[in-house]
Amino acid sequence: MEIGVIQKGWKGRTHIGIVYPNDYYIGMSNLAIHALYDLINADETIVAERIFLDSNGSIESKRRLHEFDLILFSFSFETDYLNIPALLRGETPLLRKERSKTPVLMAGGAAVTLNPYALSEIFDCIAVGEAECMIEEIKAAAREGSRDDILRRLAQHPSIIVPDIKEGYKERAWARDIDTIPISTVIWSEKTEFGHMHLVEASRGCPFRCRFCATPCIYSPYRARGREALEKAIARGLKVRRQIGIIGSDILRHGEYIELASSLAREGIGVSFSSIRVDGITRETAHLIAECGQNRIALGIEAGREEMRYKIGKRISNEKILEAVRNLAEEGITRLKLYFMIGLPEEDEEDIAEIARLSVTIREWVLKYRRSSEMVPEISVVATPFVPKKGTPLEDAPFCSMSTLKKKLSFLRHLVAKIGGVTISGEAPKKAYLEYLLSNGRPD
Ligand code: SF4
Repeated sequence: MEIGVIQKGWKGRTHIGIVYPNDYYIGMSNLAIHALYDLINADETIVAERIFLDSNGSIESKRRLHEFDLILFSFSFETDYLNIPALLRGETPLLRKERSKTPVLMAGGAAVTLNPYALSEIFDCIAVGEAECMIEEIKAAAREGSRDDILRRLAQHPSIIVPDIKEGYKERAWARDIDTIPISTVIWSEKTEFGHMHLVEASRGCPFRCRFCATPCIYSPYRARGREALEKAIARGLKVRRQIGIIGSDILRHGEYIELASSLAREGIGVSFSSIRVDGITRETAHLIAECGQNRIALGIEAGREEMRYKIGKRISNEKILEAVRNLAEEGITRLKLYFMIGLPEEDEEDIAEIARLSVTIREWVLKYRRSSEMVPEISVVATPFVPKKGTPLEDAPFCSMSTLKKKLSFLRHLVAKIGGVTISGEAPKKAYLEYLLSNGRPD
């Protein structure tokens, strides 16, 4: 059951569809979908409804895509481009040139911002940057009614490409003051990955610039929400959830967030942090994480060998990593998920072997420093193929061939199996190759 759904009559209103191009379970943990739904439905003259790959029409009224005036697709991942034909179901032509009436199809989201032209043969317009900053123009355009008028209106926005009218865009849109747009869960549903939580966005972007990472390119500059705005966003969900998921990078470096999380924990409210940089895990923050009830943590280590880690811009020493592991273990957090990349530029066998060695050392440190001998370490390695992303300093780095990636992965599996006590999983090289092709693609 969903809590927070908005049901509006269709008569006399403009109709906007919000599409997450994957299943409901995945899409409903995406805060962009919640934000669009909330911001558009705040306007009484417009009805906004959600559509997912597996939803068979809109969730709210079972309307099909072709019944809407304007449809916003939010792409977080390039591989979701492959779901576009299934979503259109043959009822709406796939190619832009073959469409002559509404709905107008608009693409946006992180993947599109990184490479705005990849979908320009399919979509009528492409939003570059943060959609919250374009909402007023999008609503005004949708009210225009006819396809030509909607497109003409959207083309006036400096961050929207309308290939039929203008090929380029002036600037990536970004919110100057994120406190004015509190982003949180607005529909609570058990049938999604973080369904037991109320998610709130605490910050956007990242103050670091790891050379492989697309986050600073998509969301810069780094912006942290003020405490008051964050409290307001949290309060919205406290009637329905007792677990808060705080989204944002580098959250634990903010003294006021630490205080806020502590006070929530004292009231018996669970708090989870989405991503924590390893060098931000001090004694104090490890204590806070444990106090908030989080008993497992994901660490983005990226490379086994320290030199390689520095080379790709993640300037965190092995010493810092082990210090963080010790701080966590002493607080009773012994379940660690270690994220590494394979296929990095100039990587050799020794780099792969170092992933296994460092994972073993981490396990040993957990065993040595765990608060009680009853706490069993659970160390899992996640090995993800490196995909060079447009706009990043490593955009021109080669993508490792699939056969080499498979060999590296099986070598790593072999090493990890030999040592025992550490499990390993990884993204399939084929999926990574698809992501590489789609994220670097041009319409031609
Ligand atoms: S990898 Fe993490 S720390 Fe580095 S730039 Fe990306 S989000 Fe920031």
